[in-house]
Amino acid sequence: MKIPMANIVLGKEELNNVVECVKSGWISSKGNYITQFEQAFADYHGMKYGVSCSSGTTALHLALLALGIKEGDEVIVPTLTFIATANAVRYCGATPVFVDSNEEYWCIDSSKIEKSITQRTKAIIPVHLYGFPADMPIIQNMAKNNGLFVVEDCAEAHGASIDGKKIGTYGNINCFSFYANKIMTSGEGGICLTNDKDTYEYMKCLCNHGMSSKPYWHSVIGFNYRMTALQAAVGLPQIKRLDKLIEKKSIIASWYAEGLSELIEQKVINPQQEQNWAKSVWWMYSFYLKDADEKERDKLIEMLSINGIESRPIFYPIHIMPPYNKGESLPTAEKIAKSGISLPSYDSLTKDKVEYICKAVKDIVEELYYLG
Ligand SMILES: *Cc1c(COP(=O)(O)O)cnc(C)c1O
Repeated sequence: MKIPMANIVLGKEELNNVVECVKSGWISSKGNYITQFEQAFADYHGMKYGVSCSSGTTALHLALLALGIKEGDEVIVPTLTFIATANAVRYCGATPVFVDSNEEYWCIDSSKIEKSITQRTKAIIPVHLYGFPADMPIIQNMAKNNGLFVVEDCAEAHGASIDGKKIGTYGNINCFSFYANKIMTSGEGGICLTNDKDTYEYMKCLCNHGMSSKPYWHSVIGFNYRMTALQAAVGLPQIKRLDKLIEKKSIIASWYAEGLSELIEQKVINPQQEQNWAKSVWWMYSFYLKDADEKERDKLIEMLSINGIESRPIFYPIHIMPPYNKGESLPTAEKIAKSGISLPSYDSLTKDKVEYICKAVKDIVEELYYLG
């Protein structure tokens, strides 16, 4: 048996769209599919505008530039996230300020944000980690009270919601990635959602070499961050399927919860916990081990691999990696990261396979902890 971490299934519609692109010759960033994709993705969220771009990283960069983030500014980010969240801040010349994680759902600990706000703070980038919504109502309130912008990093949580309101609708600008292993994909790609017309137009301009409506007149230094029509053509049909896909992923998570219930009750493994105000989309099913280090966690990954099961370590917290290390300590994120692991949860996974994975996890963990 071989169970990979991800398994992309693209449908007939994606194929037909790509064929149509090729036949029509509209394969660059012009043509119908880009506007259709932007509109459909914005509509799914009930947002007014979408600016498609080449990746989740360029989406974050565009968003921060559009909000005027620059050298000397500080931007609050969770330390437990993919590196691109912090890098985008640095691309603007600003400084990311790292905040620890909530122990239960692993996103930024909103109770620890306020003490990181200084005179220089301009924005907060909450990340909906592994499909789990960050506590947006509290973060939004805090931002309002302190005059800060909010940019949601939704790269791992397409379709997740808080009390029925979708993530990607809370911030001033909200960014998604469509990289191949995300919840929906265009191969590479990203989008910024906003309700503000001026912000929308400025991001469109920045994304296209800073070109104004007058051809070849460049009012600012922009970038070529455009998405291609081929990518939009692949992404478009997946918007319609998103709700169904999310439903399946939630079922897969419940199979894991059932299969691992004994270890969970003993708190030997501690899964990311869905909060009663939030609906996760379970990008991956993740947990951390009790009192464990990287060594035990890596042993679990290795043993799973011998059993044909691919798994992954949780991200390293950004504040311990060389470009960002200032010797600070953010203990909850460090604990989750060093003993955390994600298991496969792609939507075509069957119950049999999840039971097989759970059995393997149980056997290996019991051996690691001498529980047997
Ligand atoms: C994947 C990811 C990104 C970057 O997206 P790319 O499309 O790979 O550039 C940014 N933030 C988070 C949280 C991600 O998981």
